[in-house]
Amino acid sequence: MVIIGAGAAGMMCAIEAGRRGRRVLVIDHAKAPGEKIRISGGGRCNFTNIHAGPKNFLSQNPHFCKSALARYTPRDFLDLVERHGIAWHEKTLGQLFCDHSAKDIIAMLLKEMREAGVELRLSTEVTAIDRAAGGGFRIGTSNGPCDAAALVIATGGKSIPKMGATGFAYRIAEQFGLRLVETRPALVPLTLDPQALGLHEGMPGVSVEAVAGHGKAEFREAMLFTHRGLSGPAILQISSYWREGDDITLHLQPDLDVVAVLAAARATNGRQAVQTVLAEHMPRKLAQLIVRQTGIDGPVAAVPGYRFAALAEHMRRWKIRPAGSEGYRTAEVTLGGVDTDELDSRTMAVKSVPGLHFIGEAVDVTGWLGGYNFQWAWASGHAAGQAA
Ligand SMILES: Cc1cc2nc3c(=O)[nH]c(=O)nc-3n(C[C@H](O)[C@H](O)[C@H](O)COP(=O)(O)OP(=O)(O)OC[C@H]3O[C@@H](n4cnc5c(N)ncnc54)[C@H](O)[C@@H]3O)c2cc1C
Repeated sequence: MVIIGAGAAGMMCAIEAGRRGRRVLVIDHAKAPGEKIRISGGGRCNFTNIHAGPKNFLSQNPHFCKSALARYTPRDFLDLVERHGIAWHEKTLGQLFCDHSAKDIIAMLLKEMREAGVELRLSTEVTAIDRAAGGGFRIGTSNGPCDAAALVIATGGKSIPKMGATGFAYRIAEQFGLRLVETRPALVPLTLDPQALGLHEGMPGVSVEAVAGHGKAEFREAMLFTHRGLSGPAILQISSYWREGDDITLHLQPDLDVVAVLAAARATNGRQAVQTVLAEHMPRKLAQLIVRQTGIDGPVAAVPGYRFAALAEHMRRWKIRPAGSEGYRTAEVTLGGVDTDELDSRTMAVKSVPGLHFIGEAVDVTGWLGGYNFQWAWASGHAAGQAA
């Protein structure tokens, strides 16, 4: 069998198929395997999330991911990591990272591949894929053609073209007449129009805890003001749900009882300015921004209680309409992809093309930020590796 793409999903698929005794060839156009693993999680790879379940994924069919996720769990991957003696830690919210380096995960996968007898061909371009006369596939490559009874497409999505992301999987899907769910950058910083940016003057670099919301989706994490708009985990998460023209809502400093803090300040020292009191509980620049936006400032003693409530409400329901996103250049993942209706959820096989499989990010299953996307890559790769 041939797997195109030596990323997270392709390598896991190769290991599983090789262990089953299949002759496996993995082809990649890059010089090195697992490049996204290498740069992931700030170089430490957030390799899974112990809480990963179907609720953490976006897809037109939210049930599709259930089977693969249930049959290869975060615990299964963690067992593999521990068998290789790789030290790890939980950072926050169930996110597991390497203590040392993401390269440990790549080395682990390569060792497993070698032990499973998998052949890896790097720096190899795929020039054509055709159905072979007697069934199976003929794959044309820059190093000559090869034949395979089963073909797995594991070439990921469109994010970070600089790293060789090509949209190849979608072209192959189209070649075989498969439906695609529209793709868009996800887990991506959002941009603001110049006028809104002007209102946020002085804010780039300021980070604050927030609940970012869009529709029913809500994420409570840090957010960051940037020179072009908003970023940080809360914004990346909500970017997967946001659409052009929509607002997002922000609840800034959700643990802060603004009314109580201002009332207490009034009782102890009424001459303090509202901005000064707020700045004791949040970055000074954010306090300045809130006061500017609401027009509520001056000595706390001079501000009526109902205006404290208005200020708290402003911080609870801050609406922002992003102008756009930073796009595939910085997006961590691609939303959409091969329509899951085309695939068997147990094997990732294309229902209408025997022997053809799609796995990983190429499929219309997209995880939240926090180790979920790798868990999907491992689980879908494992599912195809057991069947192909
Ligand atoms: C900066 C960054 C940080 C991230 N951090 C995390 C994290 O910490 N945790 C997490 O869960 N997820 C993270 N992600 C997301 C995660 O990296 C992806 O979801 C995951 O790598 C998808 O795995 P995949 O195997 O489907 O695709 P990829 O890992 O993208 O692998 C695809 C492979 O196919 C090859 N390929 C592409 N086109 C061709 C072609 N035409 N011919 C031959 N080969 C081709 C590529 O070279 C690559 O090796 C991060 C993403 C980015 C960009």
